Amino acid sequence: MPGTKGLFIPGPTNVPQAVRLAMDIAMEDQRAPDLPAFTLPLFEDVKKVFKSRDGQVFLFPSSGTGGWEAAMLNTLSPGDRVLITRFGQFSLLWADMCQRLGIEADIVDVPWGEGVPVETFAEKLKADRGHSYKAVLVTHNETATGVTSDIAAVRRAMDEAHHPALLFVDAVSSLASIDFRMDEWGVDVCVSGSQKGFMMPAGLAILCVSQKALAARKQASLKRCYFDFEDMARTNKDGFFPYTPPLHMLRGLRAAVDLLLDEGLDNVFARHYRLAEGVRRAVSAWGLRLCAKDPKWHSDTVSAILIPEGFDSAALVRHACTRYNLSLGMGLNKVAGKVFRIGHLGDLNEIMCLTALAGSEMAMRDMGIPVVAGSGVAAAIEFYRTQTATPALKAA
Ligand SMILES: *Cc1c(COP(=O)(O)O)cnc(C)c1O
Repeated sequence: MPGTKGLFIPGPTNVPQAVRLAMDIAMEDQRAPDLPAFTLPLFEDVKKVFKSRDGQVFLFPSSGTGGWEAAMLNTLSPGDRVLITRFGQFSLLWADMCQRLGIEADIVDVPWGEGVPVETFAEKLKADRGHSYKAVLVTHNETATGVTSDIAAVRRAMDEAHHPALLFVDAVSSLASIDFRMDEWGVDVCVSGSQKGFMMPAGLAILCVSQKALAARKQASLKRCYFDFEDMARTNKDGFFPYTPPLHMLRGLRAAVDLLLDEGLDNVFARHYRLAEGVRRAVSAWGLRLCAKDPKWHSDTVSAILIPEGFDSAALVRHACTRYNLSLGMGLNKVAGKVFRIGHLGDLNEIMCLTALAGSEMAMRDMGIPVVAGSGVAAAIEFYRTQTATPALKAA
């Protein structure tokens, strides 16, 4: 199809030209004497994206799922208990991984569309006087439902219960798009990946690990080899890797981190809020509702939109792709057929978001879903016009 493909799934996201060009390089020597001059500052700058000074960054060639596995293998032992909540496809898969690794997961199920049940967590942590929970696992942004949870509140609940468990956060679809504060929130392992807020292809698990979690490794007896923090730390210290690193990905990461830090993290977060809010205004103007049940849970990276009963969102997503060259997110698992998702994270601006809204309107009308032509686009336009431009554009 001629023209640009509209990529509005919540990852992989659009890769900016600066990142693509940075990756288009001749193969390099992974043991070159000047490699550390590139890698050591990169580790430090990636840490800034996590808002961490005390933590240590790990870059594993893997997707985000490997980051979950690394987090658990390096800190837990068979039979250890963890507290986790399940409210969407990603939190569900993480809980499943715990069980498959031989970890006893105390799973709190809440309706899809809600976030972490902080009160229930607080009660369970207080009741756990013997400190049987070794870790609390939280999905910061549940990509299946467009729900962002309050990590600071989970930390408060842990502190109020004087509970020493580690706090693991899946920030794969929030880091570098929604405010995240590793040190301030006392997060012990934060897991992210390259293909969402970092605006790169899939292929890197990007983790930040606290000193407490690194120390927990000594007692952790789950078997590990490829994902061992120790092997990685020993070679990373001098700027190298225990096995061949994906150097083109690291060059891309350098360019992506430069873009993020040049824009300024707070500006990046403000831009994501602004773009997301325009999408939410469009959803209301269509007369539709979000899957997220309360505004406090609205995600600034992805909106999961409920379509009226009697329609199939999978058919809608298929139609948008084949007819308009527009990729929207499908509904997954419990919300399959019921929601479609607009991913609004990464290298995006207002005009790009309007194409997703216009395409969604056309596809919905084609399917017979009763939305007024132009209604959502008009609501978003009028919202975007009232907002100040991104600093990057002003400077240009
Ligand atoms: C994308 C995503 C992951 C990781 O998925 P991979 O396909 O393994 O990269 C994990 N958690 C959340 C919340 C995600 O959005």
